[in-house]
Amino acid sequence: MKIYLDHNATTPLRPKVIELIKDLLPEVGNSASVHHFGRRALHHVEYARRAISEILDVDASQVVFNSGATEGNNTIIKHFAHKYAKPSDKCTQILVSAIEHPSIIDCGVSLEKIAVNEQGVIDLQSLEIKINDMVTHGEKPALISTMLVNNETGVVQPVEDIAKIAKRHGIPVHCDAVQGFGRINFTRAQLGVDYLTLSAHKIGGMQGVGAMVFAPHVEVPVWLRGGGQERRQRAGTSNVLGIASFGCAAQLAVQDVDTIRRLKMWRDEIEATLLQNPAITVAGFDAQRVGNTSMFVVEGWDSDVLMMRYDLEGVAVSTGSACSSGSSRTSHVLSAMGLSSKSSRAFMRVSLGHSTQEYEVKEFIKLSHKLIPHSV
Ligand code: PMP
Repeated sequence: MKIYLDHNATTPLRPKVIELIKDLLPEVGNSASVHHFGRRALHHVEYARRAISEILDVDASQVVFNSGATEGNNTIIKHFAHKYAKPSDKCTQILVSAIEHPSIIDCGVSLEKIAVNEQGVIDLQSLEIKINDMVTHGEKPALISTMLVNNETGVVQPVEDIAKIAKRHGIPVHCDAVQGFGRINFTRAQLGVDYLTLSAHKIGGMQGVGAMVFAPHVEVPVWLRGGGQERRQRAGTSNVLGIASFGCAAQLAVQDVDTIRRLKMWRDEIEATLLQNPAITVAGFDAQRVGNTSMFVVEGWDSDVLMMRYDLEGVAVSTGSACSSGSSRTSHVLSAMGLSSKSSRAFMRVSLGHSTQEYEVKEFIKLSHKLIPHSV
């Protein structure tokens, strides 16, 4: 039996997205070409752009497609990093939460971290103190970057409050909304942020496609140049199929409230059972979380051992972000939440998705009794 419970890493294509891809696969056309083949390709791209802009209540011109959130995050963070490369500039730091995805934390520029509390929620007081400190020294952050939902714990972050604090000081805000898009309802204006990054493959679209979304009248970071695509904001031949899949998946994801409700019920059932084991806790249990994710901390175990034990039984769980490299499986998210280095290596993330079936949940629960016995 093969059971996939790692939907935060990537989730299968939605059936209707597969149908769309099958229809579009034989088509040819560069969306930048002016002949009718090109115009048809452009139609698919613009249809998807409209779909995403409507969900986020922005103008279609505020959506720029790219290769995914790693590109989006790098583009935005590195753009603002150049600001404090100039000694004359008073914008001196980029503030990010300590629990950001590796595509922010490890993108190769110097960042100042904002602490989170023991539930994995960004500490607004630490943020205010940091900003006030800088302001007292005649400086201010070039950018604040905060995720909407943490990919490891599922904890929802107080992005609106962060944006309000930032606005008081005139600081732009970026939000990596990858794990929140399609799981919780929001528009760009509701969050109050200037930049959003999104990824298609977390909601049932294709891998290797995503978008940056901007507030009106903000400075648009451009990384890839050398072509007129995406209004000169992201050069390179458009991934027409990927973009079309993204638009379709986004429309389906936001309408699929039944799935969101069902997954939360199953997730809660999994947690209720596993928490009967005194060795197990759930990171961020008391915080507001999305309904598909559980980050279990299993005292006395090692993440890799846990993952292998489940894998040998055909069940895929995760030992953290698929994007973090290296053999050390310490979770920087759990460390930031104050867990010891031993506990930060003793975790297992279970994440459900639109294709999850009830029998998979039941089988996982049954297997967990066997694989993590109470006595250990
Ligand atoms: N941010 C978060 C919160 C993520 O979970 C991921 C994917 N693991 C990314 C960014 C990177 O997205 P992509 O795979 O599209 O590069």
